[in-house]
Amino acid sequence: ERSAKQKMLEAYSQVAQMYHYVLTSTPYGTEAVKYLQKRGFSQQTIKEFQLGFAPDSWDFITQFLKRRQFDLEQMVEAGLLAKNEGGRIFDRFRGRVMFPIHNSQGEVIAFGGRALDGGHPKYLNSPESILFNKSATLFNLHRARASIRRRKQAILFEGYVDVISAWQAGFSQVVATLGTALNEQQARIIRRNAEQVTICYDGDSAGQEATAKAIQVLHQAGCTVRIAPLPQGMDPDDYLKQHGAEAFSQQVLLQAMPVTAFRLKHLRGNRVLNDETDQARFIQEALLIISELDSPVERDLYERQLAEDFGLSLDAIKSEARKVYKQQK
Ligand code: ATP
Ligand code: MN
Ligand code: MN
Ligand code: MN
Repeated sequence: ERSAKQKMLEAYSQVAQMYHYVLTSTPYGTEAVKYLQKRGFSQQTIKEFQLGFAPDSWDFITQFLKRRQFDLEQMVEAGLLAKNEGGRIFDRFRGRVMFPIHNSQGEVIAFGGRALDGGHPKYLNSPESILFNKSATLFNLHRARASIRRRKQAILFEGYVDVISAWQAGFSQVVATLGTALNEQQARIIRRNAEQVTICYDGDSAGQEATAKAIQVLHQAGCTVRIAPLPQGMDPDDYLKQHGAEAFSQQVLLQAMPVTAFRLKHLRGNRVLNDETDQARFIQEALLIISELDSPVERDLYERQLAEDFGLSLDAIKSEARKVYKQQK
């Protein structure tokens, strides 16, 4: 078991180098380099993240591993190779841009592979193995940890492309989950390094739902959470490429909302509040959210905001609040 792990780590390290070499130094990588350039990734970023390309071949890495005397069955278990029903072994990743995924010690333990424009599935990741426990891994943690500790804050994204973009733009306290919802283990890992987490998920409904879930998981781990808002339909990478680092810092990160503000915004959504009945119901639901705050000062601030938003007297809101809070108990 110990030496199996050692072998697999060795293989991942060598394959990562090979994919990187194919991307940067062979004609097979030309199209992928163009793709990465089009997406705005610099040469330095490609090098720093050791991005690579898996050629569109069934046996390129199989032959490579064979030549280097790796046990191919073990390489199937490691997820570098795959095996069909007939027992035939072949390259798992073909025609994909390769993103090495590291453990917290900075060893490559998996890959994410992205199809060039239009390929399916868009992302293919290494399967779980004795090296790779997806739910205990955060992309970029080994690079970001020192910064997360220093700033006492982590920024959490949905995708590793978002992390790489943000890193390239100068944000260093950035990590992402690996295509799954944030879980308790990952939240505890973050909490060990910082209390404050800024969630910056994609500006679509999936991102909003995932944000709501991540808030709960992070709260349970003892984190303080803020939510950075992105314009509808944009993810952090899109935003950075379109508006730049300064805008991302000012208009997204600095606009991060406390959880209650996010919930109220979420509740409001695109709801049309035409008549008094709609408004009264909305206000009651908003007060339910506000009632969960422990601090009377914070409650008061949100109640004032609500009164202002609907052109009501603070007295009216306060008396409605008393009713709602009573029902809560
Ligand atoms: P891109 O900008 O390259 O389209 P993205 O990061 O915006 O990538 P999303 O569709 O927002 O991609 O997905 C976020 C994350 O979810 C990805 O980084 C990946 O980890 C995961 N993911 C997305 N699609 C898949 C898939 N088909 N299979 C596995 N994981 C996926
Ligand atoms: Mn998304
Ligand atoms: Mn996205
Ligand atoms: Mn994207």
